[in-house]
Amino acid sequence: MYTALRLQRKVKQRLRRGDAEIVVVTPEPYMTYQPFLPEAAAGSISPRHVVVPLRRVLNDCRIVIGEVRDVDHAARTATVTTLATAEDGTGSLEIAYDEIVIAPGSVSRTLPIPGLAEFGIGFKTVEEAIGLRNHVIEQMDIASATRDPAIRDAALTFVFVGGGYAGVEALAELEDMARYTARYYHNIKPTDLKWILVEASGRILPEVGEAMGTYAVGELRGRNIDVRLETRLDTCEDRVAVLSDGSRFPTRTLVWTAGVKPAPLLAATGLPLTERGRLRCTATLGVEGAPHAWAAGDAAAVPDLTASEPGRETAPNAQHAVRQAKVLADNVLSSIEGRPLREYRHAYAGSVASLGLHKGVAHVYGRKLKGYPAWLMHRVYHLSRVPTFNRKARVLAEWTLSGLFKREIVSLGSLEHPRAEFELAAGGPAAPRVPRPGRPQGGEEPPENRPAGG
Ligand SMILES: Cc1cc2nc3c(=O)[nH]c(=O)nc-3n(C[C@H](O)[C@H](O)[C@H](O)COP(=O)(O)OP(=O)(O)OC[C@H]3O[C@@H](n4cnc5c(N)ncnc54)[C@H](O)[C@@H]3O)c2cc1C
Repeated sequence: MYTALRLQRKVKQRLRRGDAEIVVVTPEPYMTYQPFLPEAAAGSISPRHVVVPLRRVLNDCRIVIGEVRDVDHAARTATVTTLATAEDGTGSLEIAYDEIVIAPGSVSRTLPIPGLAEFGIGFKTVEEAIGLRNHVIEQMDIASATRDPAIRDAALTFVFVGGGYAGVEALAELEDMARYTARYYHNIKPTDLKWILVEASGRILPEVGEAMGTYAVGELRGRNIDVRLETRLDTCEDRVAVLSDGSRFPTRTLVWTAGVKPAPLLAATGLPLTERGRLRCTATLGVEGAPHAWAAGDAAAVPDLTASEPGRETAPNAQHAVRQAKVLADNVLSSIEGRPLREYRHAYAGSVASLGLHKGVAHVYGRKLKGYPAWLMHRVYHLSRVPTFNRKARVLAEWTLSGLFKREIVSLGSLEHPRAEFELAAGGPAAPRVPRPGRPQGGEEPPENRPAGG
């Protein structure tokens, strides 16, 4: 989105009208600001405000909602499947190009752990973040309604695997939200909830440095969160998480945030890849040995010109992705105009991470912050980064309102099955979950009146 946004503006200034067309192929009509997903899961920001509508911001581009299946760079064509090609049976659409920018990001890196594919939940998309929020509140409803202690225990046990940004922030925000929500249940105390963070290495949040990572472990443990370092998930069959230290946790919630790998599309481009599967790029963000092919973000292995040791690549994070996008747009235009290209150079500025409401860690430009100041810095930084004034204003308004009123504890899990009630009324197949219209879930009603769900 950032590359297209800049190209759209510069093309207007530097080329004649009609000389260029920018086509953006995207599976969803919006860009997701992923660093806000944990806050969306906690209910501090509504899901609509962590995404940016592409048709509005890229109003001079042609937006194609679809997925690029493969790229034939020699023939300069990309094969795309769209909703229409799936419906009308045409199979796919070929889009011809002069220049191609490949930035499909990354996908969850899973391992062949028994049970993971069946029970694991990812945390990369807005759908997953909101689904997880609804799921956590629904587990509290189940625990509140059941008389079976084993079901109650499994419902109130939440296991997160992977101690990077996504895992730590998601766990910390959801734990905070669930602890608050528990006060609205007559038979659930915050201490009944069991939260476990499993991390294979000896530290969490490597992005904020060792000292702040150690502080974050202490902060989470102080909240009764069971942080297990140098521990792996061995299996999770039949909804039992078995860890490498021999412990077993029956659980209905297993969130997998143990790293990312480049999007599968890259392997279907025929372009040079590194051992880790990222596109091999030059410092000017061109794909090596492939003129007119460009890449940025998680998908691109870009030499880190600021690193002390040679041969290092820029890390897959938003900080690099957004800055690379701008250099990339300039270079695409410069190459068309025969002007010299600019090298991408950015020294990692450090990081901020939220550990729930009013809690955080930060290590930015050598300065270490923790607790409330770090949390405030996290908010200010991300507010300055979330694209468009519209989204900044809405997010700020939501934060202000949630400071004035009580936290949102509603779960709208029934949104995932909008036809369930009608199907039941029409005598159709039984829905997986039968919500009552107009009846919010998650604490607004006496628990004994609520359906067990699940
Ligand atoms: C929960 C979470 C929190 C994070 N927090 C931080 C943070 O605090 N700070 C930070 O620096 N980084 C953070 N990150 C990482 C950061 O979000 C990513 O590094 C960044 O989004 C990468 O940008 P990108 O443009 O390469 O990919 P993305 O933002 O993933 O965008 C790729 C886009 O390409 C689309 N796409 C994929 N395949 C295809 C295809 N075949 N055809 C068409 N389109 C396709 C995808 O749908 C997606 O819209 C976080 C990530 C997560 C998941």
